[in-house]
Amino acid sequence: MSDFTLPALPFAYDALAPQISEEQLRLHHSKHHAAYVANANALSEKIAAARAANADVDPKLWRALSFNVAGHKLHSLFWENLDPKGGGEPSGALKNLLEKSFGSFANFQKEFTAVATTIEGSGWAALFYCPKHERLFIAPIENHNKIYFPEAKILLVLDVWEHAFYLDYKNEKAKFVAAFWEIVNWPAVAARIAQ
Ligand code: MN
Repeated sequence: MSDFTLPALPFAYDALAPQISEEQLRLHHSKHHAAYVANANALSEKIAAARAANADVDPKLWRALSFNVAGHKLHSLFWENLDPKGGGEPSGALKNLLEKSFGSFANFQKEFTAVATTIEGSGWAALFYCPKHERLFIAPIENHNKIYFPEAKILLVLDVWEHAFYLDYKNEKAKFVAAFWEIVNWPAVAARIAQ
């Protein structure tokens, strides 16, 4: 039995063009995301097999599992965060929360863009919600699983690994980030606060 499954995209492979081309999206979902799912399942089985054989479980397996499961979960969220008819600005409670937390939507967008374009190495820009303080904040996630806030909920992520944009934008990461704002699914982001 597999613990992890590659989710189908909520849109067709060619639906996000021109911001993300069909070739880029197909490769990203069916090869990169799929590999994290396959690795997570293989690692999970390896841990279970070692335990079943009364052998020591190599602690490196847990580290690798964290990387691959986080990669799988972040990609699953990333697809939900996108919509061919998306973009623009959020409304309602999300808009209010962004204004309360960042002063304005423009400030939020500027700060998130800065985080996304300055990640060291591979990683993600993420918008978090802290339920205790009812505030939003931004942080880079390095690789898939470094920089972690135990009680905060991730609402929105942008994959800025090179594999996410290189076919379309080559070294021009800032152009990819600008295009991302045109396809953000704000209702899906807002729905995560309510969950
Ligand atoms: Mn990716």
